[in-house]
Amino acid sequence: MRVDIPEDCDHCMKCVDCCIITQMDGYSIASELNELSGDGAWSCANCWRCMEVCPQGVDIFGFMMKRRRKEIIPELIRRGIDGIFRKGFWFGDSQFNEIRELFGLPVVRFLGREKVALLMADEGEGS
Ligand code: SF4
Ligand code: SF4
Repeated sequence: MRVDIPEDCDHCMKCVDCCIITQMDGYSIASELNELSGDGAWSCANCWRCMEVCPQGVDIFGFMMKRRRKEIIPELIRRGIDGIFRKGFWFGDSQFNEIRELFGLPVVRFLGREKVALLMADEGEGS
């Protein structure tokens, strides 16, 4: 898919250098500005660090969100969102407790679907 690079961007790559995702060997704004295919816009942590350093004042956040609206949600992200609605958080049950075990923490049980639905309910819903 063609990437509409913001007109004001002069390709200085300061945003790429400072990006937390780039520093973790991932691709976010880097892949987007280099017109690579992939899930760059979905990897963005929305820290806005790139916007702080951009000398051109490019609305990088707006650019990334526009990209997300154009793309199909990657499977991993879709599963994460599904997990939030079903259980109240991103990780799968086993993954979550595996991470806790690494730190010597006891296994936790999860909220039931009804409780999660209650937590996720919009205040305006039903009123
Ligand atoms: S910092 Fe701004 S001008 Fe530089 S590459 Fe990134 S978006 Fe473009
Ligand atoms: S907002 Fe996204 S693209 Fe910008 S520095 Fe943070 S993670 Fe990287």
